[in-house]
Amino acid sequence: MTDKTKHIVIVGGGTAGWLAAGIIAARHQGRMASGFTVTLVESPDTPIIGVGEGTWPTLRSTLQKMGVSETDFFRECDASFKQGAKFARWTTGAEHDAYYHPLMLPQGFEQVNLAPQWLSGKTNGSFCDAVCPQGVICDNGLAPKSITTPEYEGAANYAYHLDAGKFAPFLQKHCCEKLGVRHVLANVQTVNRADNGDIASIETDRAGTIAGDLFVDCTGFRALLIGQTMGVGFRDCSDVLFCDTALAVQLPYESEDAPIPTHTISTAQSAGWIWDIGLPARRGTGHVYSSRHISESEAERELRAYLGPAGRDLPIRKIPIRSGHRETFWKGNCVAVGLAAGFLEPLEASAIVLIELSSKLIAEQMPMTRGVMDIVAKRFNEATHYRWGRIIDFLKLHYVLSKREDSAFWRDNRDPATIPERLQDLLHLWRYQGPWFHDEFDRLDEVFPAASYQYVLYGMDFRTEVDPAMVAADERMAERALRENRARIDGLSLRLPRHRELIRKIVEYGMQPV
Ligand SMILES: Cc1cc2nc3c(=O)[nH]c(=O)nc-3n(C[C@H](O)[C@H](O)[C@H](O)COP(=O)(O)OP(=O)(O)OC[C@H]3O[C@@H](n4cnc5c(N)ncnc54)[C@H](O)[C@@H]3O)c2cc1C
Repeated sequence: MTDKTKHIVIVGGGTAGWLAAGIIAARHQGRMASGFTVTLVESPDTPIIGVGEGTWPTLRSTLQKMGVSETDFFRECDASFKQGAKFARWTTGAEHDAYYHPLMLPQGFEQVNLAPQWLSGKTNGSFCDAVCPQGVICDNGLAPKSITTPEYEGAANYAYHLDAGKFAPFLQKHCCEKLGVRHVLANVQTVNRADNGDIASIETDRAGTIAGDLFVDCTGFRALLIGQTMGVGFRDCSDVLFCDTALAVQLPYESEDAPIPTHTISTAQSAGWIWDIGLPARRGTGHVYSSRHISESEAERELRAYLGPAGRDLPIRKIPIRSGHRETFWKGNCVAVGLAAGFLEPLEASAIVLIELSSKLIAEQMPMTRGVMDIVAKRFNEATHYRWGRIIDFLKLHYVLSKREDSAFWRDNRDPATIPERLQDLLHLWRYQGPWFHDEFDRLDEVFPAASYQYVLYGMDFRTEVDPAMVAADERMAERALRENRARIDGLSLRLPRHRELIRKIVEYGMQPV
């Protein structure tokens, strides 16, 4: 119980495994010389899931802390910039019904809440355009920075779109060559348990027995360690989030110069939604739908209709998805990260950010001995439960706010029996006082801050009552922030390059290293 935690064994070599390995190894570089090891065991026979192309801005600092060059990342992962998501046809289903969930905070967010000003009609146009420049930047296909901006910095906040099939090998190379991670290609066949129920070691088919102090389960939907070995159950949440199947298609551009959207486009359908992600070399698209509400052939027909003639004969990959998460995430000396911990439909790209946050927490709180591991595990489980709960609420919010009446899927989503109690309370509260900076959303490392809730609520025509006296009290500060936002829209529109043009320059010349 007093032996130092020295040997970390990660099983699984997808996005989760390699991010966990990189984050842990980078944080503990200083201990490597005294025998701290990170080993990643990956099956040569079981492919990674290979989807998951939208990320959150946290990935910038994650890659930077791992010592990754942003230029190399763009060159090797077919990456592009993501500045938010555009939700089309979610509110009414009409042709021009659309709003943005951008990645920049509303102007002056920490000083003044612009939502009541906008709600009281002080400005015209959408909430997003009134408070933040990013919707206009996205509409105009502009990049969030220019070629002279140093790596990881931006004039506008950004995340990435990336080719998931290239990202894992890219991380693998970096982790093994720069961070000293040991890579073992072998299938885990059995797991040996210690008397206290911990995992003592894993038996592999071609690399023998591998012992460890802490095992990180990154085996994807299989959940080989946390589920099959440790017996931790799965908490299904398909009664809240109905989508259970994805049909994925990769679509070529019509020409090499076609613009690359700098946001994820999510277009609502009769029983789900279609994602559309622009990478430099191709578009990644797919239909996420509820098989309880439409058949696979109907879902495919909607997807092909969206893709148009270019997508008529393209092969479609079907991926069953099960919404939910483990009942607990860290048990004994085993902790689950990535799909092994759970999965929720990819509506707001919340999976990779959870991998980052979980791995960061493991790395930061690395229990020094087995004796303190249960205390750390308890904290980890509390934080992780909180995060999954908030993400479920946030995803459900998109469905609850929809006014679509055209199918049972949308009507069923508004059935109060399917809405988590906490979200129901919040929706009630927000009719009188909307979310803002100083409320409970701004916990440390909150996945979706209060600003995200504002963008979705007011993008989807939710009304919060406003008190004219409160609006008047903030008037001067608010007018200044609204003016500053208009000036930023003009300034950034003039100076930012087009998205494809910047990526071409990054690949050719590189960005300035930090
Ligand atoms: C349709 C869809 C769209 C998505 N879109 C997004 C998105 O836009 N943004 C986002 O953040 N996330 C998205 N995700 C989620 C994202 O793809 C995953 O969170 C991410 O890829 C991590 O996967 P993973 O590494 O946990 O699992 P996998 O990629 O499945 O990796 C599992 C690994 O375990 C190994 N393994 C399995 N069994 C054994 C064994 N016995 N021995 C040794 N090794 C073993 C395999 O070889 C593999 O290396 C999406 C998911 C789906 C299904």
